[in-house]
Amino acid sequence: MHPWIADRTATFDSSGIRKVFDLAAKLKDPINLSIGQPDFDVPDEIKEAAIEAIREGRNAYSPTQGIGPLRDAITAEVREKFPGQERDVFISSGTSGGLVLSMLSMVNPGDEVIFLDPYFVMYPALVRLCGGVPVMVDSYPDFRLNPEKIATAITPKTKMILVNSPANPTGVTASESDLRDVAKLAAKHNVALLSDEIYSRFFYDGEFYSPASDNPETIVIDGFSKSHAMTGWRVGYVHGPPEVISTMLKIQQYSFVCAPQPAQWGALRAMEISMRANVDEYRNKRDFLVEKLSPYYELTSPGGAFYLFPKAPGAEGGNAFVERAIAEGLLIIPGKIFSRVDSHFRISFAASDETLQRGAEVLIRLAKQHVA
Ligand code: PMP
Repeated sequence: MHPWIADRTATFDSSGIRKVFDLAAKLKDPINLSIGQPDFDVPDEIKEAAIEAIREGRNAYSPTQGIGPLRDAITAEVREKFPGQERDVFISSGTSGGLVLSMLSMVNPGDEVIFLDPYFVMYPALVRLCGGVPVMVDSYPDFRLNPEKIATAITPKTKMILVNSPANPTGVTASESDLRDVAKLAAKHNVALLSDEIYSRFFYDGEFYSPASDNPETIVIDGFSKSHAMTGWRVGYVHGPPEVISTMLKIQQYSFVCAPQPAQWGALRAMEISMRANVDEYRNKRDFLVEKLSPYYELTSPGGAFYLFPKAPGAEGGNAFVERAIAEGLLIIPGKIFSRVDSHFRISFAASDETLQRGAEVLIRLAKQHVA
């Protein structure tokens, strides 16, 4: 390692995902089912609002906690969802910014942070950056948030339970009762509960439920990246207990400073725009893929997000299977990137119906080849 590089950077690795992108770069016109963002564009009204903000000269730093009108609009929504709770709100630089600030604010060296395996790639990396210890709770084969398993993982060193429903990479949603039990567990053991709700709008069966309804101390992070396809705009938000939020703001002041101001004006407009039609389309995409692939693959039908996490056929493993898929022009992601286990792969169905059709054909062919 170069002598200037800090030790903490050696605690995690990004080579897995790089390898996939290297392989992808070699493909001509791939069937791309690897993308972690919506395939629709930002609605025009949102673009106009941001352009207007830029033209009118609203280009400076915003307050650390975000522009007043956006914070007010989100606060009103939060008050309505969680009546009577004392929650402060601030605008972060994407949900990722909220995650980074949450970890920096709450995780001391040696603290344990519990989350499910498979997990979103940033979780173990950020915990380790803070000197914390990721405690990964195996959720195969159904990827359920099992409160008993979480309870077993709690030790005197546990600082935080991190939940993500709907989840990346599995798309699985936790049931209301499991979330409630985990919320109570966190309260009982006085550990922080961090809820990454970035896929809350992509919820296909029933109503989205937040564990903050049961545990008012829950720190919620959410954002506009997925809901309005604004991944490059970097606008997220966090709400939770005032003292935790003010600590996060203290760090934001000396790091991110603020979310980009014009993008915040766009986000304010986004709050008035229903994306229901897009979500309905994504539900159809989910139904299509689950119906096509279920006869050939072991998979849990996702209740949200836009991912499917099937098991690779037989015992060949996710990495080997993904190499076979890429050789056929289909780009998917090996499950090992999101897990300690190399048995599954991630498909994103944030793609056109035609791409999904072509992808499903390749996947069915690959499964049949395996059986043959
Ligand atoms: N959490 C989860 C579970 C995600 O999948 C993502 C994006 N892939 C993020 C957080 C980060 O989103 P952003 O920073 O764009 O808001």
